[in-house]
Amino acid sequence: MSIEFKVEAHSGAARAGRLLTPHGEIETPVFMPVGTAATVKAVPQDILEELGVQILLGNTYHLYLRPGVETVRTFGGLHGFMAWPRAILTDSGGFQVFSLNDLRKVTEEGVTFRSHLDGSLHFFSPENAMAAQIGLGADIVMAFDECTEYPADRTRTQASMELTLRWAARSKKYFEEQKEQVPWKEYPVPSTQCPEKGAANTHETASAGNWVLGTGYCTQSLFGIVQGGMDLALRKESAERTIEIGFPGYAIGGLSVGEPRERTREVVEATLEHLPKDKPRYLMGVGTPEEIAEYARLGVDMMDCVLPTRAARHGLLFTSEGKISIKQARHAQDAGPLDPNCLCRVCQRYSRAYLRHLYASNEVLAQVLNTLHNLSFYLDTMRRVRHSIRLGE
Ligand SMILES: [Zn+2]
Repeated sequence: MSIEFKVEAHSGAARAGRLLTPHGEIETPVFMPVGTAATVKAVPQDILEELGVQILLGNTYHLYLRPGVETVRTFGGLHGFMAWPRAILTDSGGFQVFSLNDLRKVTEEGVTFRSHLDGSLHFFSPENAMAAQIGLGADIVMAFDECTEYPADRTRTQASMELTLRWAARSKKYFEEQKEQVPWKEYPVPSTQCPEKGAANTHETASAGNWVLGTGYCTQSLFGIVQGGMDLALRKESAERTIEIGFPGYAIGGLSVGEPRERTREVVEATLEHLPKDKPRYLMGVGTPEEIAEYARLGVDMMDCVLPTRAARHGLLFTSEGKISIKQARHAQDAGPLDPNCLCRVCQRYSRAYLRHLYASNEVLAQVLNTLHNLSFYLDTMRRVRHSIRLGE
């Protein structure tokens, strides 16, 4: 068993369902906070659990450079290392190599790049990106892909898509051969739902009622990534040929790379049409609160974005009344909550004046409280989206 996915309700193109992973059940559509360096910046893990975070994302590129895969592996993977018992997804490193390295060199074999930390030379191939992700031990791992730059002409976009397809096949081959190397067995994870290797072939989970895990022990799941730039015909071809290779879930990559928002939506909608209805669909790296609700409406099941956490650290807060810049002087005497409609611990306890003071004073607590609110706002948005889908709205 690695994952199981059930769609339980539809409303138009939107679907609500459940994704069972080796580290717990996820209600979809789900928003995944980004924990780049094995931390969602400014928020301790116990509070992430209280906020209802069901799955978070780690960045292979950053963790590979620091603290290094071997260190994480000796702790039983990221779950043990960062003391996070729930599900984790890691990206393949391809996007960070693309976005953080102007000097990268791409060949058929892989990508040579320089560390943004110390300038040292490194090399990612589909095989060693998979090896890194197996060592990091996330529940869901991603095929190594090339994120096509924007803008790109059709010839370039097609060549990049073909490379991603060849890398997807190599990623899958390596993953299938090596997936038993996942380090979970060496370091027991408290909430693991997996039977021991070689144990009885079914296992009912306490929380999930009718879930029956398959035979054997848990492994990770490898998702494929659809590329094809902004070209809808290439997106279709990329989807069809990625499906031919065969994965338990599919991501839409290569968006939010500088294209207009309307174009993002158009590409997402066109790509979703070609993805299997019975598999989870993951839209990578997008979204304001309005956009993530809209993508869920189009039929996306999983999303991640640095926006709520990164914006929070810059004093930009999402509320039911729109975006607020807490640094503005107009909040200096405001005794009201940040968002009168938010039930998060920050809005229940503190005034806008105090949050503005913390931010203006460059206090560490400003980053903590701002991030807590923004994450709560995103998670609540997705809760409402799931509820609406189940009500058929
Ligand atoms: Zn709040």
